[in-house]
Amino acid sequence: MTPSHARMVAWQGDITTLAVDAIVNAANSSLLGGGGVDGAIHRAAGPELLAECRTLGGCPTGEARITRGYRLPARHVIHAVGPVWSGGSHHEDELLASCYRNSLALAATQGLRTVAFPAISTGIYGFPIERAVRIAVAETARALDRYPNIEQVTFVCFSDDAYDLYTRELAALRP
Ligand code: ADP
Repeated sequence: MTPSHARMVAWQGDITTLAVDAIVNAANSSLLGGGGVDGAIHRAAGPELLAECRTLGGCPTGEARITRGYRLPARHVIHAVGPVWSGGSHHEDELLASCYRNSLALAATQGLRTVAFPAISTGIYGFPIERAVRIAVAETARALDRYPNIEQVTFVCFSDDAYDLYTRELAALRP
């Protein structure tokens, strides 16, 4: 089995352009769309995505739900609901970790091999990016050890800053 550190990459750009098995959406608990990456995904996927999301009845923070990708190049969208940052003592770290864990568990159950994540909660939800990147990489590495059939996880970085942080965090894992 390829070690988990060799199955994670950082990539800078727009997540809606990626032809992977699933892109993860930083959704809100209504699953009915919002700003940031959520808005971009719904615009690119088309109205059918919102129609499927309406059937799901929302999603609690820390959990994830899967839909089709419609007009996206990605086959599926995994909608994960990250925590709103409120100082750090309201289980934000655990809830963010469970977004990555639950998203990858869903991907594995569905037989998906390539998954791309945005930096969940680090935009409108205000989670400090350096701390979020550490959690994202550590939790994903653990999940990849558990799910050998997931071939690659891409951490999609929207800013230079995010790209530098992910690159450094991933490099630290290499032997
Ligand atoms: P949240 O509400 O979870 O904070 P946001 O969408 O506001 O979600 O931001 C999450 C992250 O996604 C931020 O780091 C933001 O820069 C990034 N982002 C915004 N648009 C895109 C996009 N099209 N592709 C990839 N990442 C994006």
